[in-house]
Amino acid sequence: MVSFLKDSLKYIVIVAGLLAGIWLASCAAAPRIMPEPVVADHPVETSTPETVVAIDEPEVNPNPGSGSGNAPLPTASNTPTATVVSKANHEPAPELPAQFFPDLMKPGVTPVDYLPNTCLYLENRWGPGKSAPGTIVVPIMFHSVVQPGRVINDTTSISMEYFEYFMDTAKDLGFSTITSQELVGFLEHNQAIPERSMILILDDRRPGVAELFMPYLEENDWTLTLGWIAADSTRDAVWETMTTLAATGRLDVQSHGFNHLYIQDYLEPEQVEEELFKPIEVIEARFGTSPIAHVWPGGNFNAGAIALAGEAGYQIGFTAYSRGPILFNWIPLGEPEMAMEAPLMVLPRFWSTAAVRALEEAVNISEAAKAYARDSEQEEQAYYAYYCRPDGSE
Ligand SMILES: [Zn+2]
Repeated sequence: MVSFLKDSLKYIVIVAGLLAGIWLASCAAAPRIMPEPVVADHPVETSTPETVVAIDEPEVNPNPGSGSGNAPLPTASNTPTATVVSKANHEPAPELPAQFFPDLMKPGVTPVDYLPNTCLYLENRWGPGKSAPGTIVVPIMFHSVVQPGRVINDTTSISMEYFEYFMDTAKDLGFSTITSQELVGFLEHNQAIPERSMILILDDRRPGVAELFMPYLEENDWTLTLGWIAADSTRDAVWETMTTLAATGRLDVQSHGFNHLYIQDYLEPEQVEEELFKPIEVIEARFGTSPIAHVWPGGNFNAGAIALAGEAGYQIGFTAYSRGPILFNWIPLGEPEMAMEAPLMVLPRFWSTAAVRALEEAVNISEAAKAYARDSEQEEQAYYAYYCRPDGSE
């Protein structure tokens, strides 16, 4: 494995020049879409997009990508044609195996890759000091945790009992948390993170729930990510509680908008701008850190807002679609997110009401991904050796 990569960095530039421009140009296309899923005959679980409409925050814009929704899907083009490579007298050019597509995928969900350079992807996938194949991230969103004896009358709250059960299960299954920054490092470079990772995201402004998390964070050396509504209407006492909690270093404060407006096409451009830019200013002033993640209020997004989020400096965004866990260069998306052609800005999140099941599902997908990696390693290495290293190098 080490020899597979040892010269790689040295040759990246050379390779870029040697391999035909045609191929590189085709590699740089927008995110490649995996083959169509085989639609399973069992029903979707609780968090379909329809459920999102009814539950989180009233509605998900049914037609989000006003500009790009009808854009044709990019064609798969990561396999360069042998004619542009000088090694024509070798065996048939190696091909990458078909993309990992576990049976466990939910109907209508497709894994999407997002790294345009296949050689760099393979280096990061197999390189030393990186996350092992099968490393998985489970993003989970939390809202209220209801105290014992109180009735749950909405579909986003969980009981104290379930909250504790989730924490115990996560620990028993060997999960650890990561921060937004660690997630970005993992997504972009396969930065080493725990093999079973989760990012716990508490939405809105819930100091009481944040306090419930604290003992677990301390005990397990975990962090809690906040999808924080930044508007200045927040009471002083709440700011005080939150900045005190943040001083422990266990909070990863990210944006959940300024006034928590759902992105809709009828919003004024200035409103969208305020929703995305203002939280950065406020969070920097209050917490002394810069948010790099935007949690879309209500799970709503559109192409314009996504472009603006990129301009504002956000590197990742989270929806309220429960699509599945995330792997390196592999994000499970539904059609509304795929239409955005910006996978990192529309990352899925599981619902806290199904959080335990989400972890179990993630473990299964992680195991399947490991088996896939074992089976495909040789082909991937052959591909790398053929296309990503100049002649004669080992
Ligand atoms: Zn919210």
